[in-house]
Amino acid sequence: MSEQERFLNFINGRFVPPQGGDYWPVYEPATGHVFAEVAASSRDDVQAACAAAEAAFPAWRDLPSEKRAALLQTIANKIEAHQDDLAQLESQDTGKPVALARSVDIPRAVANFRFFAGAIQHFASECHPTSSDVLNYTLRQPLGVVGCISPWNLPLYLFTWKIAPALAAGNCVVGKPSELTPATATRLAQLCLEAGLPPGVLNIVHGTGTDVGEAICTHPAVRAISFTGGTTTGSRIAAVAAPLFKKLSLELGGKNPVLIFDDCDFETTLATTIRSSFANQGEICLCGSRIFVHDRIYDRFKAEFVARVQQLVVGDPRDVRTDQGALISAQHLAKVRNYLALASAEGGTILCGGDVVTPPGRCAGGWFLTPAVIEGLPDQCRTSQEEIFGPVVSLYRFQTEEDAVQRANATPYGLAAVVWTRSLDRAHRIAAQLHVGIVWVNCWMLRDLRTPFGGVKQSGVGREGGWEALRFFTEPKNVCIKFS
Ligand code: NAD
Repeated sequence: MSEQERFLNFINGRFVPPQGGDYWPVYEPATGHVFAEVAASSRDDVQAACAAAEAAFPAWRDLPSEKRAALLQTIANKIEAHQDDLAQLESQDTGKPVALARSVDIPRAVANFRFFAGAIQHFASECHPTSSDVLNYTLRQPLGVVGCISPWNLPLYLFTWKIAPALAAGNCVVGKPSELTPATATRLAQLCLEAGLPPGVLNIVHGTGTDVGEAICTHPAVRAISFTGGTTTGSRIAAVAAPLFKKLSLELGGKNPVLIFDDCDFETTLATTIRSSFANQGEICLCGSRIFVHDRIYDRFKAEFVARVQQLVVGDPRDVRTDQGALISAQHLAKVRNYLALASAEGGTILCGGDVVTPPGRCAGGWFLTPAVIEGLPDQCRTSQEEIFGPVVSLYRFQTEEDAVQRANATPYGLAAVVWTRSLDRAHRIAAQLHVGIVWVNCWMLRDLRTPFGGVKQSGVGREGGWEALRFFTEPKNVCIKFS
């Protein structure tokens, strides 16, 4: 294997091997073959990254925000110039269709840098004139070194969603992408180098959560951790980081409800619910996995939904006709299949899908599954309550608005919800009652980067996006002046 196919750490502006000299294989989910290897780093590598970040911090902090913004814009331009390569790489690493990476993941990474390059130049803090001789004002200062830990489902999209605001606000970053998808983060490091980002401002340490992630979360220099991933991992991070008084932003799992009323625009609802169920193989935290449909349109919706789902093309992510690529790993495929077996045991009927697919040619060894629709599950069974994070949704029938809202709220999660209705009154009424961080009415995944993003209950703590992100990555300091 050549040196280029090794994803090395990026510390102090240089690509360096892990100090222990170990590597993990990186698989292409669509083929099941190893296509690269990634540094299997340790606490020592995290230490080196934190030392570099600490050393780089004073100069980066003191750089005027417009100069930091200009650097972020240059990085955005470089990502945009390489979007075709990055989309191919993202698809190779995750199994998602190249077309999806090209239209969603990579443009969003560009937008993340552009957005925070602009936002930091408009970021302001408060001033409280208390009386004629007392003035209070708030300084919002960067924290220093921050840790950014991201998952495998939207690798560059989510990694840049964290590091762009962190850097814009004047922090230095020690980042860790998922060990399953290290490719585009490594390519990003190269682009940052070419853009002239000073050494040590962004550092990337590859490896597992237990070896590297936890070392970042417990390192004394790291003042805040921005994490996106599973709820169990988030709970572990909170347990180790909270006693060290680190700021935490935790974006966790979901079991999102979709509420479809009989006055919806049927065709738009149907088309968008196909996407909200199965985009990225259902491996998006915001996918709607519990679909509640009003009794009056349940049978029609079910028939048309299942017919459309059966038409989705599962296959080679490089093929432009492909709707569904491969699942991230053999283990994840086995987990999703276990949930389908459990669904049957819990009283559900699998209306379609759930079959392992073996496409001909180069993808014969890949991890493909046809999208599955289940009905007849009790609300409180495990399949209805636990996050599956794959191409599986369940249909539920409801009679009244109150019933739908109560059942939508009856899980430990609270990330997002989708409501389909033409009634403005109902939309407002329900949006206020749902226990989630994000409600989409008559749409899904429509994002404005200025809005607060995050979940409640076991879906997380804190908010990303807009001013929320810049506030998270800064510490407010009140200055009270009395003048004579
Ligand atoms: P994961 O929790 O297994 O891993 C996420 C990241 O955390 C990886 O980089 C991993 O190496 C690291 N990690 C694991 N253990 C750690 C530890 N003890 N300390 C520090 N870091 C550790 O999640 P995943 O399987 O990569 O991603 C899927 C999950 O992410 C799903 O639950 C999904 O809902 C969630 N997710 C949430 C959002 C959101 O915005 N709320 C977005 C995308 C994905």
